[in-house]
Amino acid sequence: MAETETIFTKIIRGEIPAAKVYEDEHTLAFLDIAPLARGHTLVIPKRPAKLVQDMTPEDQGHLFHAVGEVARKVQKATGAPSTTIAVNNGPEAGQEVPHVHVHVIPRTEGDGAGPIHALRWPRPDVSREELPRIAEEIRNA
Ligand code: AMP
Repeated sequence: MAETETIFTKIIRGEIPAAKVYEDEHTLAFLDIAPLARGHTLVIPKRPAKLVQDMTPEDQGHLFHAVGEVARKVQKATGAPSTTIAVNNGPEAGQEVPHVHVHVIPRTEGDGAGPIHALRWPRPDVSREELPRIAEEIRNA
């Protein structure tokens, strides 16, 4: 299997079925097969890339445009007033399929899932005084 070949490239080529909800020249969106909420959708670029930063700026733009379209449609269709929009960007972050995919998950009041900040992060000991230096390290990287 080529490095860029995943279950999602098979879906793009129509070789395996998917419940498609949106498609344009550059992106495809379909329902997650194991949804965290009714209407949980994955938005993917048609040109394979493992990580967000591996994509061309144009593809990144096309993807985020499609995410906006999908979020609007998912919220309208499900009646959910909000969505969580998230990417597991690499295996250590929980990425199972090595083809960029944006989760669009309908959210309703009292659904109990909480914000992304409610993930069980082992919080690091970072003081406010350290933030400028950390920001500089990232700027210079
Ligand atoms: P991640 O953990 O961010 O890589 O998410 C991968 C997601 O892909 C999971 O939520 C899976 O349920 C979903 N998934 C895997 N295979 C399929 C498929 N054939 N059709 C739709 N969703 C899938």
